[in-house]
Formats: sequence, C-alpha cells, structure tokens
Amino acid sequence: MTELTKLRKRLHKNPELSGSESATASIIKKELEFCKPDEILENLGGSGIAASFKAKYSSTKKSLIFRAELDAIAVEEETNLPYSSANPGVMHGCGHDGHMTILVGLARELKKKRPENVNVHLLFQPAEETGKGAENVLVDKRFKQLNPGHAFALHNLPGYKEGLIYIKDGTFAAASTGIEISFQGSYSHAAYPEQGKNPALIVAELISEIEHRLADFKQADELNKIVCTFIRMGEPAFGISPGKATVGYTIRSATDEGLKSGVQKIEHLIKKAAESFSGDITYRSVEPFRATVNSTEGVQIVKAAAEECSIEVQSLEKSFPWSEDFGQFRDACPITIFGLGAGEHVPPLHSETYDFNDKLISTGVTVFSEIIEQYS
Ligand SMILES: [Zn+2]
Ligand SMILES: [Zn+2]
Repeated sequence: MTELTKLRKRLHKNPELSGSESATASIIKKELEFCKPDEILENLGGSGIAASFKAKYSSTKKSLIFRAELDAIAVEEETNLPYSSANPGVMHGCGHDGHMTILVGLARELKKKRPENVNVHLLFQPAEETGKGAENVLVDKRFKQLNPGHAFALHNLPGYKEGLIYIKDGTFAAASTGIEISFQGSYSHAAYPEQGKNPALIVAELISEIEHRLADFKQADELNKIVCTFIRMGEPAFGISPGKATVGYTIRSATDEGLKSGVQKIEHLIKKAAESFSGDITYRSVEPFRATVNSTEGVQIVKAAAEECSIEVQSLEKSFPWSEDFGQFRDACPITIFGLGAGEHVPPLHSETYDFNDKLISTGVTVFSEIIEQYS
C-alpha cells in the first residue's frame, strides 16, 4: 500500500462533520508541513487550511487554487471495511477523504518540483456539505492574499467509467436551496380544537398549491426541481390538536437566476397562505448553493492536461442536479471542476456502503500537476 493510500484510509477512519473538522485539519497540516510549502494558512473560514507554493522563477502574481473538502456526512457506515469509520453516525460518504489525499499527493509533487511561473495554493476547505464552507473561506480576509486567477477542483463520480474525466462547459452542478417553512398556531385538547390553531389544513393546502402553481417552473428546465423533503407536525397521540408545524423544501435550478425565480414563486404562495391562517407562517432559506458554472478557458485547460496525460475525457451533455459549494468561488475568480469516474458498478455517493476508489489518487495527482503546466 502506498503512503497516500494509507493516508486516505486514515482519513476515512476518522471522519468529522461539516464545521467541526479540527482533527482532520491537523492531520492535513502535518502532511503539508512535510512538503515544505512557503506558507500555510490555518483556520481559514473555520478549519480550512491553505498551503502556498510560490513560483520558482518569477515574482508573478498569477495564482492557482486547487480545492479539496475536509468534511464527512451524517450517515452510519456499513462497508465493514477494516478502516471503516471510528466515529459512529459519521462517514466519508462523499469521497472527500480521497479528494484531500489527491491534494496532499500534489503537495508532494510540488515539494519535488516547484511551480515555475505560477503560485499554487492548495486549499482544504471546511463544511462543503452544508454550503457554508466556501462562503466562510471567501469572507476570511486572509483568503484575499491568495489572489487566485483560477480555481480548480474535482469530484469522484461513482456510476461512471473508472479513471475517465467527465467535464462540462457552463453549469456543472445545479444551484439549490432549502426552504424551511414554520407554522405557528396554538395547541389545544383534541376535544376542543376550536380553542387552538391547528396548522394541518393550511400545511396540506400550501403543499398542494406549491405542487400546482410551480408546475410551469418544473417543466421549464430539466434541472428545475422542487421537492418537499419533510413535514413535522404533532406527536403520535390522539388527544392533542397540534399548534406547530415545519415543512421543508429543496429547490434546484441550472442557474442562480432560475433558482431565484422559483424561490420567489414559493415565497408568494407562503405569503398568500399566511393571509388565510389565523396563526403565523414564517420561512427561511437553508443551505443555499450557487450554481457551479465552469469557465470555458478552464475546461480547455483540463482537456489539454488530460490529453497530455493520455486520460480519456468525456463531455457531459447534462448538468448534475446536485449542488457543490465550489460554485461560490466564482465570487473570487473563474472556476473549473471536473468529475473523475470511480467505476460503473459501485455504490453511489452518500450511501452507507460507499467507499472512495483509491485508484483515482494517482490519476487526480497527475491531472492536477499537468493543469499547473498548462496554466503556466
Ligand atoms: Zn457530498
Ligand atoms: Zn462531495
């Protein structure tokens, strides 16, 4: 087993949830220190770490970011692997253990051979899964000093041919947001429902209204989706008329503008429902993700790098309906993310039997290294 595979398995065994990745960050910091970067920034937007390798021959301001994610997900692992999660209820079910290992592999390459005409920053960001991490990194004042000209990232793709690169110009992954709708009525004895304000009917009406009134939105684009993800109201009892309810929705679209128009339609329906309910209805946006939109130039660079390394590239016809908080980095610079096929018949991301395919580590390191050459 190579050192990188060992590191990947160590990370896999010690997963941490979004926003509390301190142990992971300290493992990564040690690995990076070994590679002697010019600078390491810690606690970026939380537990984030960035290692900077300055250009060897020039005082260029040109900078590249490669991004990996530190966080795991709240799923009980059922892989029965010898290195399966030692942290109950938390697992590396998205392969971020692999993505981190690839960046550490790139750091090892940069230790051997400094970038020549571009500064390279390896960014390990916190809290990707909640959509908060990239935003927190971006508002951290120290992020500005990295001054990125372009940011690259990859995501492993179970269900796709092993070792192939999958890329798309424009939207790679959808914009999305959760909407949490809170109904505040009042409780009463079920024998005297008239003494309380039971939200059951208004909940049912609003769900039905959203379904019907947003049919156009859903039909307008394949990526436009609205899904009711939870309804919470009352207890499994028969003597109480409930006084509170919470309903969750996830809404998705190919563009930030498309998402905004869908959200506005829902907001309008919520306000209308509030007028006909004797209690209060409020709502808030939860876990918003911008659309992850690839730069045309970046896509060309990835394609050229792959060709140079004899790695097959397939252009994706459709954007992914899931979201990626890498899209947020568009606030700082053009971005490009590509998929790395993890094999066609393996468990999907976020499933309890998923595991990162270690064969992708060397492919990832090779492509990222070549991207630096192509960008310089
Ligand atoms: Zn994920
Ligand atoms: Zn992920």
